[in-house]
Amino acid sequence: MQPFAYSAPTTLEEAVEILDKHGEKARPLAGGTDLLVQIRGGRFDLDTVVDIKKIPELNEISNGNDELVLGAAVPCHKLYDDPSISKSYPGLIDAATLIGSIQIQSRSGFGGNLCNSTPSADGIAPLIVHSAVANIQGKSGSRSVPVEDFCTGPGSNVLGKGEMLVSITMPNKGDKFGAAYERFIPRNEMDIAVAAVGASIMLDSNGKIAEAKIALASVGPTPIFATKASESLKGKEPNEAAFKEAASIAKSECSPIEDMRGTADQRKHLVEVLTERMLIKSLERIGG
Ligand SMILES: Cc1cc2nc3c(=O)[nH]c(=O)nc-3n(C[C@H](O)[C@H](O)[C@H](O)COP(=O)(O)OP(=O)(O)OC[C@H]3O[C@@H](n4cnc5c(N)ncnc54)[C@H](O)[C@@H]3O)c2cc1C
Repeated sequence: MQPFAYSAPTTLEEAVEILDKHGEKARPLAGGTDLLVQIRGGRFDLDTVVDIKKIPELNEISNGNDELVLGAAVPCHKLYDDPSISKSYPGLIDAATLIGSIQIQSRSGFGGNLCNSTPSADGIAPLIVHSAVANIQGKSGSRSVPVEDFCTGPGSNVLGKGEMLVSITMPNKGDKFGAAYERFIPRNEMDIAVAAVGASIMLDSNGKIAEAKIALASVGPTPIFATKASESLKGKEPNEAAFKEAASIAKSECSPIEDMRGTADQRKHLVEVLTERMLIKSLERIGG
């Protein structure tokens, strides 16, 4: 590993100033479970690593009646340690409990997972189905981007020079909302998804589907918001026929590659199976 400076700013302004000054030669460090491995592997040639864990806004975790605010440096374990978050954001908990191991979950979080922007990231599809928004700060101000628009390619995203992710916010959709996330891996744990699906359902007062979201991982160059499959469920009874149709549409919305972990056909098949399964699980979590 080549030498680099370490800075640990305590304000957002200071962090953005350092990031802006060094451009490509500086990177934020949250849990470091991706970044340190990547620096060791020679992926980045850095002058400075900016530890963001001392900045209050990045450690915020506030679960109000209307929304959850998740600071970009909050580690996974803080989510599943809080029963009120588990109740309202079940898709997030599915991901938080399967990312790496307990050791990894005690360091790493959804902010780092999102900014690392891999197609197989386990945190991004659950964020999409929870309608999450990424809040970004740069030198010239702040902006917000829906998570489904955040990643632009494998390992790349909308963050510009000097910009950093501050927090992720998600609306609390109430008691008639359920969500779930599951991945297929050949081992029991500590593996990269061959394919993965997140889903959410919100029911109206007549028990019909008011809103549904389906998001896919590891089956395209970025995590995919399967908009056609999601829309197909709107206004329907939440039953087997509707779920099967949505699963079949989701299969057509992915574009997987073929590699040592799986063929494109196997991945498409997995998307169909997992989509139906996650829709059923989301409904069960509402109590349907
Ligand atoms: C043993 C092991 C097992 C793993 N298993 C899984 C797994 O099952 N599923 C999975 O999805 N991932 C897995 N990972 C990858 C990694 O743990 C996750 O992606 C994790 O969520 C990254 O979070 P972090 O806080 O450690 O990010 P970091 O490593 O700190 O950062 C990741 C990237 O995002 C950038 N970044 C971080 N924070 C910000 C910010 N606020 N603004 C802008 N850029 C930022 C960093 O510069 C870096 O490029 C594993 C890693 C290891 C080492």
